[in-house]
Amino acid sequence: MEHEYDVLIIGGGVVGCAIARELSAYRLQIGVLEKNPDVGYETSARNTGVVHGGFAYDVGSLKAALCVEGNRMMGELAKELHFPFKRCGKILVGHTEEEYARLLEVIRQGEACGASNLRMVDREELHTIIPSAEGNFALLSENSGIVDPFLMTSALAENAAENGVDFHLSCEVSDISREDGLWVIRTKNEVFTTRWIINSAGAQCGKISEMLGIRGYRIIFSKGDYIVLDPRLGTMVPMPIYTVPSNTYMGIHVTVTTEGNLLLGPTAENKEDPEDYGTEQKNLDFLYEEAMRIWPHFTKGDCIRTYSGVLPKWVDENGTIQDFRIEIRDKEAPNAVNLIGIESPGLTASVPIARYVIRLMKEREVFEPNADFNPARNEIRRFADCTREEQEALIRENPDYGEIVCRCSKVTRAEILSAIHNPLGARTMAAVKYRTRCMMGRCQGGYCQMRIAQMLETEAGLDPCEIMYARDGSPLFFGKVRG
Ligand SMILES: Cc1cc2nc3c(=O)[nH]c(=O)nc-3n(C[C@H](O)[C@H](O)[C@H](O)COP(=O)(O)OP(=O)(O)OC[C@H]3O[C@@H](n4cnc5c(N)ncnc54)[C@H](O)[C@@H]3O)c2cc1C
Repeated sequence: MEHEYDVLIIGGGVVGCAIARELSAYRLQIGVLEKNPDVGYETSARNTGVVHGGFAYDVGSLKAALCVEGNRMMGELAKELHFPFKRCGKILVGHTEEEYARLLEVIRQGEACGASNLRMVDREELHTIIPSAEGNFALLSENSGIVDPFLMTSALAENAAENGVDFHLSCEVSDISREDGLWVIRTKNEVFTTRWIINSAGAQCGKISEMLGIRGYRIIFSKGDYIVLDPRLGTMVPMPIYTVPSNTYMGIHVTVTTEGNLLLGPTAENKEDPEDYGTEQKNLDFLYEEAMRIWPHFTKGDCIRTYSGVLPKWVDENGTIQDFRIEIRDKEAPNAVNLIGIESPGLTASVPIARYVIRLMKEREVFEPNADFNPARNEIRRFADCTREEQEALIRENPDYGEIVCRCSKVTRAEILSAIHNPLGARTMAAVKYRTRCMMGRCQGGYCQMRIAQMLETEAGLDPCEIMYARDGSPLFFGKVRG
């Protein structure tokens, strides 16, 4: 099958989805090509979910400028798109004189980058803010916050889809060529032609850049392992607690998520394979040890899960990490926007990155506004977050709110149905899980997994053997035992 577009975006991570959503404000035929069966399966859902204040990056860098802008706009964006965001602040805890001096340096650097509301707090104030934190002093960033990174990504994607963007999922780009002034993109089963192409392929940015004819970027993959702790500890940590960062490593942190879980992590280790997400015992032991220095209130028995994420870092010939690169090379690759090395703070900066991309495109072409663009996305009410009265009203309005499917996280049938029928269509267990929080509690799906599989069968019309856990090739069932 052949498809024709004005703009095709390669990659349905938070950056690709932000670009799709921002571009849908113009009258353009837009498509997103994503190799996984859903958006946000790679780095965009495998991070800490912190909305950074913009103080940890080089003065004058794109990372700093776009992070500060992303931080400022996050509250409004979260309201418009209904994803969880809390401007809870963040604290960097120190013990030694050298660490004190380093934190003062971080404040100076942050202020030069445009970050605001940064200040040192003494031991007494540190313990008033977080009684359970260990440390002699700290840097408080009041503007920092936390988001649910997957829900932010899927909210951007769903809003883009509602505004007319086509999402081609399970669609891996294998070849790109330039023919008769257009880009021709080939996947396993389909061919796409487009006037504009955007490389937003995250860890695969170097590979796609080569396909576009832009060669020579050196990308290294820095993997971070995390430990997820039982949510019962979450209330003791009102904001992310970080150690003091070096120039190249943010340090490990004890972070609360918007769902109230605690994360310990990440480690930082260079790897060959950008999609090797296995976690290693030696890293988990390191995390337990390091986190104990700043927050000694857990045991290994509080661990409910581990995961990892991979940062694609663009480095020069000496191995020095470079800034984000967002470019159009008119001669080598006309009408192609190339995004390279979108590592941290790519989540915080995703919408400003999208706007930067569009500014570059608009320097070369006039785009007509889309008068029908609707920046708002409908809210899916979360039963567990409602008051008793609100819950009763929801059940009266829609009896599916009266049936609890996931007991640990109190997720109702109504929420699972709205996930399955979202504008992209959830077709995997993970797509339902990330959108609703089912299977994320203490039993990790022991109770509800089969009921959700049954709903995917009846509601999405999937044969049980077609139901994948997350990626293509991860089937839940291999066939029938009887009859
Ligand atoms: C450990 C860790 C912690 C982090 N913490 C934070 C944080 O707290 N705050 C913050 O702001 N940032 C953080 N980040 C950074 C942030 O997560 C990333 O910058 C951001 O998610 C990058 O998004 P992306 O869309 O560019 O990449 P991705 O999410 O990787 O998306 C790229 C997409 O392209 C698809 N793709 C690749 N190749 C192809 C192909 N050939 N065909 C079709 N599709 C393809 C992939 O499947 C993927 O979905 C962290 C990152 C890591 C790893």
